[in-house]
Amino acid sequence: MKNLNLVPFVSVDNMMKLILDIGIEQFLLELAGYVEDDFKRWEQFDKTARVASHSDEGVIELMPTSDGKTYAFKYVNGHPSNTKHGLQTVTAFGVLSDVATGYPALLSEMTILTALRTAATSAMIAKHLAPKGAQTMAMIGNGAQSEFQAIAFMAIAGIKKLRLFDIDPVATQKCIKNLAGFGLEITACTSAQDAVEGAEIITTVTADKQYATILTDNMVGAGVHINAIGGDCPGKTELHRDILLRADIFVEYPPQTRVEGEIQQLPDDHPVTEIWQVITGQTTGRTNDKQITLFDSVGFAIEDFSALRYVNDQLSTYGHFENLDMLADPDTPRDLFGMLLRAELSVKN
Ligand code: NAD
Repeated sequence: MKNLNLVPFVSVDNMMKLILDIGIEQFLLELAGYVEDDFKRWEQFDKTARVASHSDEGVIELMPTSDGKTYAFKYVNGHPSNTKHGLQTVTAFGVLSDVATGYPALLSEMTILTALRTAATSAMIAKHLAPKGAQTMAMIGNGAQSEFQAIAFMAIAGIKKLRLFDIDPVATQKCIKNLAGFGLEITACTSAQDAVEGAEIITTVTADKQYATILTDNMVGAGVHINAIGGDCPGKTELHRDILLRADIFVEYPPQTRVEGEIQQLPDDHPVTEIWQVITGQTTGRTNDKQITLFDSVGFAIEDFSALRYVNDQLSTYGHFENLDMLADPDTPRDLFGMLLRAELSVKN
């Protein structure tokens, strides 16, 4: 029988081995399937906007959810100025637990996994909203998330051409170098305006703790799908308000997105569609080829639940975990103190 006191732990090193064994495109495809399956049973989940602790430098957040059988939470930070000090903007780890016992079943790194789940979710949603046959994506912001977004859109949404722009050309060159060999036709652009030229999908994935205007209204033509990733905190947005007024807006969980997403710029009663309703077929996504669709992504706990569920399901096949002695295991459940005394004796002997 499995020893419930030992908790499988997927370190960063093991996560990388797992991704490389499965193959990143396959990993993203399968992960997108898990997210889509969980979005289809959205109503079964216990949902809450994430608990955020803001500071001048950034935010630290806890993201919990449960489907009644399994519980998950993620710890994640967002600190845009970190990269100046050689640190990442986003880092994360997460836990999956058994609701029946409350015992943790998995502890995992989630910095890489968050980039994968964000990209898989974006591309899966673009499959539902982007114009049919879209082949070109502009990507503004070429930092840590960017390659994951590019590969997910290639593997899941059929993107073949990528137009990149970042205010820091070093970031764009890093992105081009990392994506060499994936078969994408990549163009480095001189401005955001230049990047969106001819693109059917626009991804904004910049990091700045302010109301930024990465896209202005005149840059967004009819029929485009916008995948807005970087505006995910109060006071941190990427799109000019006029774009929001022309677009049909799709969100994860409105109580969270109204506070954190692009729509924080709009009144609380501005109509938005919950994306799970498009995925289940209860409502339509794209209705015509002139429509501007906007996925106002902030990242929701169910996506992390799906990602942890996916990783957990791979461990029996691929290994790549170690067992952590994380839970106390007294000989009889109520003799926790006795366990300490026995440990003292065994240290003395
Ligand atoms: P990063 O700091 O590694 O990269 C951000 C890039 O944006 C940098 O290269 C920077 O030079 C560039 N940039 C900043 N301002 C710009 C501008 N005006 N025009 C063009 N480029 C600009 O950050 P990251 O880890 O890639 O994350 C990017 C954003 O995505 C962050 O804001 C993060 O909070 C957000 N994010 C959202 C989700 C989600 O689920 N929605 C998940 C993960 C990260």
